[in-house]
Amino acid sequence: MKRQLAVLLWILSSTAALTAQKPLSVGGATAAPGQKASGWIEIPDAADPGTRIPVSVVHGARPGPVLALVAGTHGYEYTSILALQRLLPRLDPGRMSGSAILVHMACPPTFYGRRIYYGPDGKNLNRMYPGKADGTISERIAYAITKEVIDKATHLADMHCGDGNESLRPYSYWMVSGNEVVDAGSKEMALAFGLDHIVIDRQRPVDPAKSVYTATTAILRGKPAITTESGGMGLTDQASVAAQEAGAMSLLAHLKILDGVPSARATSPVWIDRSEVVRTPATGVWHPSVEKMQSVASGALLGRVTDPFGKTLHEARAPFAGGVLYVVATPPVSEGEPLAMIGHVSEAAPVR
Ligand SMILES: [Zn+2]
Repeated sequence: MKRQLAVLLWILSSTAALTAQKPLSVGGATAAPGQKASGWIEIPDAADPGTRIPVSVVHGARPGPVLALVAGTHGYEYTSILALQRLLPRLDPGRMSGSAILVHMACPPTFYGRRIYYGPDGKNLNRMYPGKADGTISERIAYAITKEVIDKATHLADMHCGDGNESLRPYSYWMVSGNEVVDAGSKEMALAFGLDHIVIDRQRPVDPAKSVYTATTAILRGKPAITTESGGMGLTDQASVAAQEAGAMSLLAHLKILDGVPSARATSPVWIDRSEVVRTPATGVWHPSVEKMQSVASGALLGRVTDPFGKTLHEARAPFAGGVLYVVATPPVSEGEPLAMIGHVSEAAPVR
């Protein structure tokens, strides 16, 4: 009898341990189980001025995966910032098994400064990971997001669109790292998010100390992750914002944080098995001759870079036959910067 009581007590206490969630804190936002909270990740002044990153924590009443949704890594990419504003009131932590961390705006200085690509320190946040505690502002933001968001999540979606100068068709990146379990998880996330083109990227870094990108930082820490692209040109069109919002909801259902089916899941996506960003060798004035979604033959003219007087400095051509995933659609271009991204459509779905 005594032994039976001991067993019963053990079962009760272990069940309680399973269901009793601790509060979840990200920066200054702390949510008890079944609650949501918003606050800031403070980035103090250092070599250059600091900032504060707005975050929300939606902490499920029951345990489960923790999905980080990162918006505004590039501050002129508005669709994800608006999508997370719409998502927050829709999430009921009382009905969630697991949690969501919403980074509403990863790089406020680029948003409020209306900056394309680069922060006030001249650095691209999505090239700075895992960041530096004592670096310049982009490096300090990357460091804080690594520690406060990525380390606390089990899955991550870094939500982008074409930057303020980029005309882009929607697609996700499936980044293949060589870790089969993580790669399978990332692939399922790309399908669940629902954008109908998926770029297979096998060229990402493999050293966690030099992970460079937001999503790669998660992947190299054993957490499935994707990068999404929907919208561009500084627009806030309904279709592009809604695709980000629906994709995030679908991911939460896919991970079983929310009940229901992943409603946006792509059933027959177009897989891009080869892609290349075509860059300009010269600073100048860009005259594109293609549009997003257009099919191009190998060697087809993508556009011309001229000097300020109109003399051609460079003709950009398609490196192989494929489709235009994005094209820079405003005139200023600086040496080494993108002009367009071309993707080749795979004949078949990838085995892995
Ligand atoms: Zn971006």
